[in-house]
Amino acid sequence: MSKVLIVLLDGLGDRPSRSLNGMTPLQMAHKPGLDELAAEGITGIMDPVAPGIPVGSDTGHLSILGYDPYRYYTGRGPLEALGAGMDLRPGDVAFRVNFATVGDDWTVIDRRAGRISTEEARALGEAIREMAAGFDSEFRFEFLSTVEHRGVLVMRGDGLSDEVTDVDPHREGVKAEMPRPRSQTPEAERTARELERFLRRAREVLESHPLNVERVKKGLRPANAILPRGAGKMPKLPSLRERFGVSSVVIAGGALYRGVCRAAGMDVRIVPTATGTLNTDLNAKFNAAFESLRTYDLVFLHIKGTDTASHDRNPAVKASFIEKVDRELRARIDQLQDVVVCVTGDHTTSSIDGRHHGDPVPILIWGEGVRRDKVVRFDEVSCADGALGRIRGLDVMNVLMDLVGRVEMFGE
Ligand code: ZN
Ligand code: ZN
Repeated sequence: MSKVLIVLLDGLGDRPSRSLNGMTPLQMAHKPGLDELAAEGITGIMDPVAPGIPVGSDTGHLSILGYDPYRYYTGRGPLEALGAGMDLRPGDVAFRVNFATVGDDWTVIDRRAGRISTEEARALGEAIREMAAGFDSEFRFEFLSTVEHRGVLVMRGDGLSDEVTDVDPHREGVKAEMPRPRSQTPEAERTARELERFLRRAREVLESHPLNVERVKKGLRPANAILPRGAGKMPKLPSLRERFGVSSVVIAGGALYRGVCRAAGMDVRIVPTATGTLNTDLNAKFNAAFESLRTYDLVFLHIKGTDTASHDRNPAVKASFIEKVDRELRARIDQLQDVVVCVTGDHTTSSIDGRHHGDPVPILIWGEGVRRDKVVRFDEVSCADGALGRIRGLDVMNVLMDLVGRVEMFGE
């Protein structure tokens, strides 16, 4: 059976830019490889969730993998924790966490703790884990630092609730309020209370940690608190193998994307030089993806730079990054035998205002047996004339899996 390769360019869709003569970065980019696939395949536009609904990468990815986010999305925390490599169990509550610098009254001075390095954060995280191992509570706490000031916190035990407020106020100069229950249930109250005790204890450990004492001496900001946000319970998703009988793997630099895919039962292939930024090692990522096609039925290659350039409000950088991706893909088109390729995005991110929007994104599907429409360019406007028409994120996986004979007939 044919294999499937999904190349997902994060935040690919865009809006016309005056600095690009009224074109979008994708329209502006010189991308003969993508245009060739569009010309030989079928194209369309896709609403990640629904027309006019701006989505995050988390809900957008769930939808494109075929999981209705209104049903399955339980918050970003558990997806980040899964992506960081933590093993979550049903009932666990997970949070995203920032190391931060806070004042005596928990006023947030620096949400990134003076740009603490990944290595420093790892040492502090180790101290928090030691403390957590002996922490006296009805719940277990697990902590992991990830990249720079970021980390994840998991609470485990019977009777937890994810209905607790964010401690991270999302801006500086404001007090970080201790967690409060968002519902009047004993579970939410217990969860908030125990989390507060843990955060206060973590602060004691951090304040007295030699690394922070040293930072203060040097005039640097100490990472003296951890601020959780985005509480969520581990979602229960039927795996792609259960749904379509396929083996699948993700290649992504960012933890969130790995996390969503892990929740869908996919394997994770780590490419050490994949950074999830504009400087990522595209060559290594494409090599890993093409290699993985030998052993997996479905390979999901996630590329973040397009979204990053959009958030930086830099349409020209976005266009040139698309050109880099195109060069990697074009160099390997000859290797695509018995592979159905899909190129799309998870949402529109405007490089004018740097925000996610509800505009549809272009999609192309290419491969043996795929109908050929009249569209010869891969961009937001051209693809609107494509024979796929306008589909939803939730349709993508069915369309692809049906092309490779993996969808069971409905009826007799
Ligand atoms: Zn995204
Ligand atoms: Zn974004």
